[in-house]
Amino acid sequence: IKDIKVKILTAEDLDISKFYRYPDSHKGDYGKVGIVAGSKYYPGAAALCSNAALQSGCGLCYLLTPKEVLYFQNFRRPEIIVLPVESKEGIVSFDGFVKFDEYFAKFDVLGFGCGLTKNKEVEKILIHILENFQIPIVIDADGLNVLASSRDVRELLASYKSQKVLTPHYMEAARVLDVDVKDVAKSPIDAAKKIASEFRAICVLKGSRTIITDGDEVFINILGNPGMAKGGSGDVLTGIILSMIAQGYSAFEAAKLAVYLHSLSADILLEKKTMQTILPSDIIDGLDSTIKRLI
Ligand code: AMP
Ligand code: MG
Repeated sequence: IKDIKVKILTAEDLDISKFYRYPDSHKGDYGKVGIVAGSKYYPGAAALCSNAALQSGCGLCYLLTPKEVLYFQNFRRPEIIVLPVESKEGIVSFDGFVKFDEYFAKFDVLGFGCGLTKNKEVEKILIHILENFQIPIVIDADGLNVLASSRDVRELLASYKSQKVLTPHYMEAARVLDVDVKDVAKSPIDAAKKIASEFRAICVLKGSRTIITDGDEVFINILGNPGMAKGGSGDVLTGIILSMIAQGYSAFEAAKLAVYLHSLSADILLEKKTMQTILPSDIIDGLDSTIKRLI
């Protein structure tokens, strides 16, 4: 009889030990998140991802984003340290990016992809990161689109030595696996496990029932609601995963905690609001009462 390794994700599966903050601790103890996100076309993705990382407890959050995104000031928490990257028509350029190489030694975890757009420069940057750094990495959105289309990125990622989390929704998973999205929908657990094993990564396959797997053990999240089906929700989840890794959780633990917090926050919002009105930014603000409920 095969071991049954599929489990509904519950609060009992979560390790919240690192939520305790020691009285004599300082910001360095809670980790530094680096995020490469945003473009002239999607400045909000950079804001949502970095705001979410910051709001879930990391010590410092750095955002590498095209300098055009700076006009988006008001949507960004002032605590975020922005490293403005020279761009090519509003998209991060490789030459602009490598000027910040020395910063990468500081980061405890790196987020890559939200709102970058799919582009040759973006592919070059991801190759550069995978060849030159060894930092736990969370790849989302356009990072996944680049992964789907570049053999170099695929090979480099599979042999990348640090911890990896991939966070595709069904469509992105279909692109990465080069199958029809209907096939992913038909057997999402298999799809998630396949992605996890090919890249030796944690796969968070996002949907109304998000699946989290290391390729062996599988957790299914049953919290959350269709009010989350809005552009920007995924960027918020990526930020929370990053923050959990920065605070010392393993990629698998971080993914479980983040998926749970993200969807519980959206559910708590429904006590006062509606599925129509809740926004991804509200999920970030709601982390307050969500974390309070958990600790
Ligand atoms: P993305 O498509 O990258 O913006 O990610 C969407 C996020 O919202 C993921 O975390 C999904 O799990 C979540 N989500 C979207 N639709 C639903 C739904 N109907 N029920 C629960 N969660 C959802
Ligand atoms: Mg997304």
